[in-house]
Amino acid sequence: MAEYKKIESALIHGGIFGDELTHSVNVPIYQTSTYQQFELGAGPRWEYSRTGNPTRAALEALIAELEGGTAGFAFGSGMAAITAVLSLFTSGDRVIISSNVYGGTYRVLDKVFKQFGLGYGIVDTTDPAAIEAAIAPEVVAILVESPANPLMTVTDLKLVAQIARAHGMLTIVDNTFMTPYLQRPLELGADIIVHSATKYLGGHSDVVAGLAVVKDGALAERLGFIQNATGGVLGPFDAFLLIRGIKTLAVRMDRHVENAVAIAGWLDAHALVDKVYYPGLPGDAGYAVNRRQAKNGGAMISFTLKESCDFRAFFKSLRLITLAESLGGVESLIDHPATMTHASIPRELRLRMGISDSLIRLSAGIEHVDDLIADLDQAIAASTR
Ligand SMILES: *Cc1c(COP(=O)(O)O)cnc(C)c1O
Repeated sequence: MAEYKKIESALIHGGIFGDELTHSVNVPIYQTSTYQQFELGAGPRWEYSRTGNPTRAALEALIAELEGGTAGFAFGSGMAAITAVLSLFTSGDRVIISSNVYGGTYRVLDKVFKQFGLGYGIVDTTDPAAIEAAIAPEVVAILVESPANPLMTVTDLKLVAQIARAHGMLTIVDNTFMTPYLQRPLELGADIIVHSATKYLGGHSDVVAGLAVVKDGALAERLGFIQNATGGVLGPFDAFLLIRGIKTLAVRMDRHVENAVAIAGWLDAHALVDKVYYPGLPGDAGYAVNRRQAKNGGAMISFTLKESCDFRAFFKSLRLITLAESLGGVESLIDHPATMTHASIPRELRLRMGISDSLIRLSAGIEHVDDLIADLDQAIAASTR
């Protein structure tokens, strides 16, 4: 085993178990569904690739190490990871989600789990009194994102975990926007971490994947059982792509954040920009809490233009930044939450959550920041004509 103390080194060396056959420096892609057994009932380490695959196992060990957990689980998408975690609960249970969660998280609860009797409640988790008020005997867990999608609202994760623990509830944190390089919620008291690894962990917009991490042994056993029983596992090639992406997470995130800070400051000072939502700006409502629990404000920015601007014309005028769903890739992506990522939330509810029809969400990529600002500048100018 390699010896190191810092996460930058763990990103590169973690989870590699050593290929005994060839001693390859990288984890091989074990593209196999099954494994030969030499005697009956011997309980072999590898028996079938839904249950376990060495490439996936290396990724699962890596994410567990990075998040400070004891067990990691890799799934075919972030939604598959979230679905597996929600499968820990039963009919009659209720889960609290923060307003502003990922649209798909809301949708799977509202359209799938509700049918099986698992209830949910939407709470402004930035307000501890609102969480306390939502607690009831049937509430078994609280699922939060911080910063939350798409208004970048910051929830005090330590405080939420304390409240949850005091009431025997589990704290689940979707850490997609921050990654373990910027924020480690298990260390703040959370019980379960979920990721859409499609985003920063993969980092190149070329793989759809999900991860979950837990610390507690009994919880690990239950989630491992669900992963194998329901079967939404990640394939070996995609596991390899994620391991490869994670190696450069630290250098990518540093540049993503550097660009985001510059862009958010530039937007904030722009006469035609109405509001900027970015917890890395000292004037942002979530700045102080985020500072306490994360390395920095990340690289996701939302903003609105002044009413004199036509936001549709703004989107149409961009020449470098790509209009697309998703985030966290090396290329800058821009999104219109009302019609794209958050379209699955009914409009009335969306407006109540503060997601206006004109909100724009930017995933700052790692291009040169001058090119990104120049593109935003000309598109804002074009939106006023
Ligand atoms: C994208 C995303 C998801 C869903 O992940 P998929 O990989 O698309 O299934 C969940 N949570 C957050 C915060 C996301 O951004």
